Amino acid sequence: MNLMSTTNWRELAASLKIRSKLFINGQLVDAQSGKTFAAINPATGKPIANVAAGDVADVDAAVASARKAFNSGSWSRRAPSDRKKVLLRFSELMLAHGDEIALLDTLSMGKTIGDSRNIEVPVSANCIAWYGEAIDKIYDEVAPTGSDALALITREPIGVVGAVVPWNFPTLMTCWKLGPALAAGNSVVLKPAEQSPLSALLLAELALEAGIPEGVFNVVTGFGEIAGRALGLHRDVDAVTFTGSTEVGKLFLGYAAKSNMKRVSLECGGKSPHIVMADCPNLDEAAIAAAYGVFFNQGEVCNAGSRLIIDEAIKDEFLAKVIEISKTLKPGDPLDPESKLGAIVSESQMNRVLEYIDIGRKEGAQVVLGGERVRTESGGYFVEPTIFDGVKNSMRIAQEEIFGPALATITFKGADEALQIANDTIYGLGAAVWTSNIDTAMSMSRGLKAGVVWVNCFDEGNITVPFGGVKQSGFGRDKSLHAIEKYTDLKTTWIKLRK
Ligand code: NAD
Repeated sequence: MNLMSTTNWRELAASLKIRSKLFINGQLVDAQSGKTFAAINPATGKPIANVAAGDVADVDAAVASARKAFNSGSWSRRAPSDRKKVLLRFSELMLAHGDEIALLDTLSMGKTIGDSRNIEVPVSANCIAWYGEAIDKIYDEVAPTGSDALALITREPIGVVGAVVPWNFPTLMTCWKLGPALAAGNSVVLKPAEQSPLSALLLAELALEAGIPEGVFNVVTGFGEIAGRALGLHRDVDAVTFTGSTEVGKLFLGYAAKSNMKRVSLECGGKSPHIVMADCPNLDEAAIAAAYGVFFNQGEVCNAGSRLIIDEAIKDEFLAKVIEISKTLKPGDPLDPESKLGAIVSESQMNRVLEYIDIGRKEGAQVVLGGERVRTESGGYFVEPTIFDGVKNSMRIAQEEIFGPALATITFKGADEALQIANDTIYGLGAAVWTSNIDTAMSMSRGLKAGVVWVNCFDEGNITVPFGGVKQSGFGRDKSLHAIEKYTDLKTTWIKLRK
């Protein structure tokens, strides 16, 4: 737990070294065009850095450097036990530079410093260490052939991996990709989100310092429709691993089809149902989980429990509890370690959230908490936790991903209706159910079309379990040993034996 005060964080922010160039072949370099864009602090609305705006030429240079490094074998053919040592060193360096990493994320995308420093940094460093630890313990296979052959089934790194990530957990989303991709021996070109490009550049320096060879980990900052698109369409990128919106995820499928049929894995949006049955074992605990489950990180969480689906028998009592807890989650200065919620990532995202609140009102839902922009005097983009009652699942606020602090509450009668409502969405990322009955828990878990189901909790888990979705939440999994499948190809070597 970090014990720095707001003043300490402000002082550190004032002296913070901000890297703002591309990181290609182990060097910080300007974009070839010389163009930059402003990174804005959403808590103040003021610029914090001018960041290199990479384009096609820069992506070409980064991919060429990644390819050269891959072909050289300096990392791709290194013994797994060596890669492990380097990744463990990288993880330690991340922890040693935890204050800087946390501050870069908080300043660029507005999440609270408490969440950045005490959750995102250690969980991200653990992710890198976990894949380092795992990689020298994974064996290949020998097929059950007859005695006239020996058939080896081996996993090989894919080659050059393009990683395109969002802004809501800049360091964690990066590490979910980097950990398994690097552990398996690939080279990576990372395109961070334009709203949160800064921490990735520090990570790249730390990776180099830890011993990851030049060219193995490159970062091209820039806009999605330029740099992200160039990576998606690149003919020498072997796989793209993407986290972001469903809309952009679909574009990556098109990029792959139009170019070289590169592998694509997609972690996309969600509209996760959080179901509370009448036999919920503890309504107070469930209410805390429901409030934090949607408002954590200002609601900018892909698997936020943004649809609270409550048995009508307990709805009034339960909703009152959720409202009371949510009242305590006031947005505050992101550099104040006591703040529970920070700023919304950008002015346009804040306006989008406010528009949805307006849409909800017009659709006939009632705002029973919040609904307004707050802290306008700061110049930043803050929205208070907002709860809608009387929502029908067909309403836009129940169907579309708002990606902000807005909760839709919907009532049901009986488990069948709860399931029907929960699954009536294009998404299938997370889902939760509260019940005291193991049979109900298991039948709901089987019935819920989602990649992750929580029972009597919300958003729990760790690096040992896969994370990802079904339906239009995407495919492929981050975390756990299964993530390595995205970054490796299977090779069969069939050896004919003569004796
Ligand atoms: P986004 O889709 O707008 O952007 C994600 C990344 O794609 C960014 O790096 C962006 O620059 C890039 N991009 C944007 N347009 C592009 C284009 N035309 N071509 C190529 N690349 C492009 O998403 P966002 O606003 O950064 O993040 C929010 C979204 O991410 C939400 O939908 C959220 O649910 C999703 N998300 C999903 C997960 C998950 O694990 N499933 C985790 C976090 C966030």
